[in-house]
Amino acid sequence: MRHIAIIGSGPAGYYTAEAAQKRWGDDVKVDIFDRLPVPYGLIRTGVAPDHQSIKGVSRRYEQTALSENVRFVGNVTVGAPGEGGDVSIEELRGLYDAVILATGAPRDRALDLPGDGLRNVFGSAAFVGWYNGHPEFAGLAPDLGGDTAVVIGMGNVALDVARILAKTRDEFTGSDIVGHALDALQTSRIRRIVILGRRGPHQIMMTPKELGELGHLSRATPRVDPADLPDQGEDALLEPGVRKSVNSLRSFAAIPESGDAEIVVEFDFFAAPKALLGEGRVEAIEVERTRIDGGRAVGTGEFYEIPASIVVSCIGYRTSPISGVPFDERAGRFANDEGRILPGLYCVGWARRGPSGTIGTNRPDGFGVIDMVAGDMESGVLGTGGHKGRAGFDELAEARGIEVVTFRDWKRIEEAEAARAREGAPREKFVDVAEMIRARD
Ligand code: NAP
Repeated sequence: MRHIAIIGSGPAGYYTAEAAQKRWGDDVKVDIFDRLPVPYGLIRTGVAPDHQSIKGVSRRYEQTALSENVRFVGNVTVGAPGEGGDVSIEELRGLYDAVILATGAPRDRALDLPGDGLRNVFGSAAFVGWYNGHPEFAGLAPDLGGDTAVVIGMGNVALDVARILAKTRDEFTGSDIVGHALDALQTSRIRRIVILGRRGPHQIMMTPKELGELGHLSRATPRVDPADLPDQGEDALLEPGVRKSVNSLRSFAAIPESGDAEIVVEFDFFAAPKALLGEGRVEAIEVERTRIDGGRAVGTGEFYEIPASIVVSCIGYRTSPISGVPFDERAGRFANDEGRILPGLYCVGWARRGPSGTIGTNRPDGFGVIDMVAGDMESGVLGTGGHKGRAGFDELAEARGIEVVTFRDWKRIEEAEAARAREGAPREKFVDVAEMIRARD
């Protein structure tokens, strides 16, 4: 019997479990740990609440979760006991043949600019966590009482944030946005949303389908300055996905400025943020005009200010370090060689390669790491048979009084969330860990 521990129950974790199951069938037992009592990681707390069809992928993970040889071990923090952890990496490596870190990248990349500590300046992990009901960020309470929001970055997360800020209450019908965010957004006075990109339209990271949604909002309209767009002939050199996104930008640039829209979502290209300004709370952002040189943004020495009552920086994510695991500070992920960290310790998904790609990108990643583990078992780098696996963990959990939440418990929590949903919504999430745990009883 092989014993595998996967840390993190998001897409990378479940695809890895599926791969282990496909390879070894009944000859493997997989424990999937999560620090939250609820599974699915980014699917639950990262994917936008109005993108329910993307969230539907969790039904596939459920098939894996419900199989005999895979077990969800929720409410268990992996890390040094004494530093907030329930069980250390060393202990897990002693119990399982292989430990695979699928912990994603849940921390914001720091903006690292003067004034970034001002009130109402948030990173996207926190802001997205707030409207998605992540227990760590549910209490964020952003102030939406001002006129202008500045969203930094030109990726899909920036788009999510801008769209959520722009939607009406009716446009959230069928979504699982948490009640506290829906109520706060309803009283929002934001009328101008500026999306700031340090490079130009040809360097946009937003994907076509997601960008297209911005053109179909009920009270908001996108605005692109035609002068920012390169000659159309140059689009031919672009990769097809980027070309489609640039087509959307061109169509936005052609929308006449009627003044009818209640909210304008403006794209400000060639604009590198330099400082956040304000007394105690953010009031403006200082920006330097850039030009592109060899694909990079280079400052032109021209500076200007944009008033900003709230700033959300969507510039990428970092993995959280775990005590005892080598970490690559510069890259913001575990130090690894194609997924290998130390003998018997691996990483997969965003924890391996950083925050890129779609949810589906994690499937080949999961199958790849299991190929690697299998190869290491066959070559003798990894021993099998000497480890206690889940029985050993259960002994440790009992001795330590760890309150494990099982998949069956999660199904009860899920039912309770569905039962308290507002009309038309699939669920109203519990945003507090203690409440989640109570809901299983
Ligand atoms: P991303 O796609 O890497 O975009 C990050 C953006 O931040 C880029 O425009 C980047 O500009 C900018 N940036 C980075 N550092 C900056 C700085 N110091 N100052 C100003 N701008 C800076 O990251 P993301 O939006 O966080 O998305 C992460 C991943 O999740 C992506 O693969 C994304 O596609 C995926 N995702 C998908 C969906 C969906 O499919 N619906 C939704 C959300 C997220 P440069 O290009 O100039 O570096």
